Amino acid sequence: MRTLRLVTTMAVAGLLAGGAAVVTATPASAATAVFSVTNNWGNGYQGQVTVTNDTSAPISSWRVEFDLPSSSTITQSWNAQQTTSGSHHTFANVSWNGNLAAGASTSFGFLVNGTGTPVNCTVNGAGCAGGPPPTTPPTTPPTTPPPTTGTPVERHGQLRVCGTTMCDRSGARVQLRGISSMWLNWETAPYAENLSALRWMRDNWNLQVIRAAMGVEPAGAYLSDPAKARAQVETIINNAVTAGVYVIVDWHAHEAQNNQSQAVAFFGDLARRYGNLPNVIWEPYNEPLQVSWTNVIKPYHQAVVSAIRAADPDNIIVLGTPTWSQDVDVAAASPVTGTNLMYTLHFYSCTHGSSLRAKGDAAIRAGLALFVTEWGASNADGGLDGRACLPEAQSWIDWMKANGISWTAWKLDVGTDTTNLLSPGAPVTGGWTNYLHGHAPFVVANMR
Ligand code: MG
Repeated sequence: MRTLRLVTTMAVAGLLAGGAAVVTATPASAATAVFSVTNNWGNGYQGQVTVTNDTSAPISSWRVEFDLPSSSTITQSWNAQQTTSGSHHTFANVSWNGNLAAGASTSFGFLVNGTGTPVNCTVNGAGCAGGPPPTTPPTTPPTTPPPTTGTPVERHGQLRVCGTTMCDRSGARVQLRGISSMWLNWETAPYAENLSALRWMRDNWNLQVIRAAMGVEPAGAYLSDPAKARAQVETIINNAVTAGVYVIVDWHAHEAQNNQSQAVAFFGDLARRYGNLPNVIWEPYNEPLQVSWTNVIKPYHQAVVSAIRAADPDNIIVLGTPTWSQDVDVAAASPVTGTNLMYTLHFYSCTHGSSLRAKGDAAIRAGLALFVTEWGASNADGGLDGRACLPEAQSWIDWMKANGISWTAWKLDVGTDTTNLLSPGAPVTGGWTNYLHGHAPFVVANMR
């Protein structure tokens, strides 16, 4: 290997000395790459690589390669095309960031599950800091690379909680992104129950998960018309299975402790019939009010969790927290006993900012796994004033990405509120490119 490199170097030097035309083909020194950690959460981190064209001429492409220890895996990346072979990772420019003028820079990012940092880094074949390529031999190719095609459930399979986040069947960290239905009892049209619409969202928005927000307490919801509400939820579950997406079964209530026996019966029955499917995620209590976690909410959760676990030992259960699912730090002080349990955090970015994220950080530090089953770039009322607060929403998106927190955005319906995703005339069957409303363009851009 060493001899070969020496011969190669001499040959290149000879070519350079022998003919001026070859000088234009020297991509090896066309760029440098610098690695930095932009966020760190103990068992993982967010990395960034900045690529700089340090020549006096434009370049039209770049490629960065490095190795990570096998105990550290890259679960997500952006602004570059990633290919992974064992512990060797290659990042090539995408269409819009390959051209770099002399002296110009661009960067790409990635999330790492594990604490190992890049070694043996090259950019366009040269050492990342501008030196020669490293001399370590290439790593062994993987035996079974993770699938990159197929439906979300084909790619990820059965989910589980791993540390403070979610992993798929291969142990890779996964951040699901999708949307919530409207309160099913108040939908203006049956958007959430439409299979064609679900497939369209999967294929055009990159939707991976849909939340079935089954209203419980209002007139016309589950308690007064259980057959209708259950049929809506089961339609959404069956569609999700057909489309290969994940589905959250949400008991959309604010005072669920007053109807605990109905919740126990409902979730026990659905767990018996659907708990064997990798698609299903249980959410037994949308948004408790400002009531005691230890005396009211936690005992309710324990009752529903045991009913689910009697039939379904493993699917993820996402637990609502006090104050409209904001006090995750309170839940963290006394978590529910069980496996594959996550906790709900809801935010609306015109109302909630860094102080609520600090509650989330505290809960994660205490070991909780969070799932944002509702959010909006609006006021906490869903945006009655029609206003959107996108910069704060972007801070939330970045925070969720950095912490591997899955999310479903509120909500799939037509109306004037900021959080209604669709505008009047939106067909029930999908095809909504020209029917996006309120915060929908922001939500869709962040699902892709
Ligand atoms: Mg199961």
